[in-house]
Amino acid sequence: MISPIMNTYKRLPVAFSHGKGISIYDTDGNAYLDALCGLAVTGLGHAHPAVTEAVSEQIGKVNHTSNLYQIPNQQELATRLAAVSGMDSCFFGNSGAEANEAAIKLARLYGHNKGIDLPTVIVTEGSFHGRTMATLSATGNRAIHQGFEPLLKGFARAPYNDVAAIREIGKNNSDVVAVLVEPVTGEGGIVIPDSNYLTELRELCDQNGWLLMLDEIQTGNGRTGKYFAYQHTNILPDVVTTAKGLANGLPIGVCMARGDAATTLKAGNHGSTYGGNPLVCAAALAVMDTIEKDHLIERAAELGERMLEGFNAELGGASYIKDIRGYGLMIGIELTEPCAELVSLALATGLLINVTAGSVIRLLPALIMSDDEADEIVSRLSKLIKVYVGDDRSRPRV
Ligand SMILES: *Cc1c(COP(=O)(O)O)cnc(C)c1O
Repeated sequence: MISPIMNTYKRLPVAFSHGKGISIYDTDGNAYLDALCGLAVTGLGHAHPAVTEAVSEQIGKVNHTSNLYQIPNQQELATRLAAVSGMDSCFFGNSGAEANEAAIKLARLYGHNKGIDLPTVIVTEGSFHGRTMATLSATGNRAIHQGFEPLLKGFARAPYNDVAAIREIGKNNSDVVAVLVEPVTGEGGIVIPDSNYLTELRELCDQNGWLLMLDEIQTGNGRTGKYFAYQHTNILPDVVTTAKGLANGLPIGVCMARGDAATTLKAGNHGSTYGGNPLVCAAALAVMDTIEKDHLIERAAELGERMLEGFNAELGGASYIKDIRGYGLMIGIELTEPCAELVSLALATGLLINVTAGSVIRLLPALIMSDDEADEIVSRLSKLIKVYVGDDRSRPRV
C-alpha cells in the first residue's frame, strides 16, 4: 500500500503524545529522555510554560495577518534579534532552508548591484544548508544532490576548515560575492573548525569585498554557549541565518544582515506568506525572554562542559572511540565504526539520540536540563555504547 505520507523520512516506530522538560512520553505511556530536541529545536524542552502561555494568548487574539501590514511583535522580535546578534535587519521565513534561500538571494542581488552578472557563493564540503533547490545545491553532500540535478549554478566548493582553499578559489574567480559556512557543522558530524577559522574568513572577505554569511540554523539561539556561535570570536558576519531553536518548535527561520547587506533586498525582491506571523513571533519572543531570564546561554556552556567531561571519564581512550567533541550543547561522539543502529537501541532503552555522518552519535539536548538530567544522559548513553561495542564486542538485538 502507498503510504498517505510521502516516504521522505525513515521513521522510527514510535509516536509521542506529550512531554515536559527533557522527558517525553510515547502513546503507550513509556517515558524517554530527550537528548535530541527534535534536532536542536526544543531547546527549552517540551511544553515550556512561557511558550505555551505566549502562544495560547496570541492565538486567542490574532495568529496571522500578512506582511502586507505592520506586525508589532515581528518588529519587536527583529529589534531584539538585531540587538543580540549585532545585525541591523531581519527577514522572516518559516524554516532553516527558507532563511538560507533568503541569504543566497541576498548575496546574488548584492553581486548584481556591484555589476557581477554571475555571482558565486563559496560553500564547503560536508555542509548542510537545507533541501530546497538552492540550499541543496549549496549543501556539500552528494547524497543530498543525487537525483535532483541539474543543481543551481553559482556555487564554488572548498573543503571545510580550509581558508587557503577559499582564498585560492577567489584568486581565479572574480564572480565570488560571498562565503557561506556553518560555524560548527551539524549534519556533517559536529566538526569544530580551528579557533581562528571565522576570524581568517572575516579578513579574507574584507580583503575581497565578499559577504561573510554564517548558517547558524543549528548553532544559534544559545546552543553553543553564546547566543550565536560567531560570538565565541570578536568578528561580526555580514549575514546570519538561524531557525531551529528560535521558537521552540513553531515554524520560523530568519535571515539577518548588517550594513550594506541589510538594505540589499528591497520591496518586491523577496517574501513569505506566513513568515514572521504574530503567532511564531510570540513564541520566539517567549523563547528569547526565557533564555535571558534563566541565563540559559551560560547554562548551555556549563552543561556542555559537564557532559563532555562525563563522556570523557566514561569512554575516553576506549579503542572504539575515535573522538569525543562538543561545542556547548552540540556534542559528537565519533566511533571507529558505523553505528546508525544505536538510535533504535537507545530508543528501546528510553533515550532519544541521533547518529549522523555514519559514525557520529549526535546529542543536541535542551538548555533547561538540570545537572542530574545531564549526568543521567551521559551515564545511560555511555552504558549503551559499552554494551553495543564493548570489550566483548557483544551486540544486543532490539
Ligand atoms: C537543519 C538545518 C538547515 C535546514 O533547516 P530546515 O528548517 O530543515 O529547512 C539548514 N542549515 C543547517 C546548519 C541546519 O542544521
